Amino acid sequence: MKVTGSIAEIRALSRQWHTEGERVGLVPTMGYLHEGHLSLVQRSRELADRTVVSIFVNPTQFGPGEDLDTYPRDLDRDLELCSSEQVDAVFIPSADTFYAPGHSTWVEETALSKGLCGGSRPRHFRGVTTVVTKLFNAVQPDLAVFGRKDAQQALVIQRMVRDLDIPVEIHLGDIIREADGVAMSSRNARLNEVERVRARALNHGLKAAGGLCESGERRAAVLLSAVEKALREADAEIDYVELVGLESLQPVSELTAPALLAVAVRIGATRLIDNCILRPRG
Ligand code: AMP
Repeated sequence: MKVTGSIAEIRALSRQWHTEGERVGLVPTMGYLHEGHLSLVQRSRELADRTVVSIFVNPTQFGPGEDLDTYPRDLDRDLELCSSEQVDAVFIPSADTFYAPGHSTWVEETALSKGLCGGSRPRHFRGVTTVVTKLFNAVQPDLAVFGRKDAQQALVIQRMVRDLDIPVEIHLGDIIREADGVAMSSRNARLNEVERVRARALNHGLKAAGGLCESGERRAAVLLSAVEKALREADAEIDYVELVGLESLQPVSELTAPALLAVAVRIGATRLIDNCILRPRG
């Protein structure tokens, strides 16, 4: 397994694979890998001949006062996991080399990135689309795999690739959960024991809304208040709970077509997100 922080080196490796007729898959991550990340690696290995994992805690997608400095990191363990998943190369750019002094160019999606997480994290998606573009330019993959856990991010990236004619296929992997239903996240490591139990409320809330939906409920207000109730009982500080169109990410008041139910909360100092798709019955 090749491990490099050099853009020139990863690009040369990718070029070499392409000359040999191989397809290259990329799984972008911020490290502190868990089963959710590894499921994306497995997907890439099914779809491509070579798989590159990038590990980069991207400073430009964190706002002031967010958890850039305390974001969990364990590179040795990440490399062991990549190696055991038979990853071909790990790309680990350093923040200084990836963002040259005076970096002043941004890639910005201006519609889908405004609501949901974009509401409370105004520069977040600009950082994401810029870093994903840079990762694509460095690795030159044929395809990239992202998780549905970050549903808005996935949609923003699909839109960016479409709008800018970026020749990378985007594939999405399902949300991988812990045994108690909590969506796997690197940030779960920052929860203490009590907070970790409280974190179950996200999935409980989504499931409560799912249950109502199964029994025929279509009113967004009723579905949303079921989620809010579960979150309030766990004393989670709600950032948003929204039911939005799958493609538009615009709020819907009635479930007439499949829609995305998305939540973001703070539990203690840790921000957590989760989502599910609700489908109207019948
Ligand atoms: P991150 O390291 O949190 O930036 O995530 C890197 C990629 O892994 C993103 O495409 C995420 O959507 C995806 N991911 C994170 N957690 C999960 C999960 N529990 N299940 C599936 N994919 C995930």
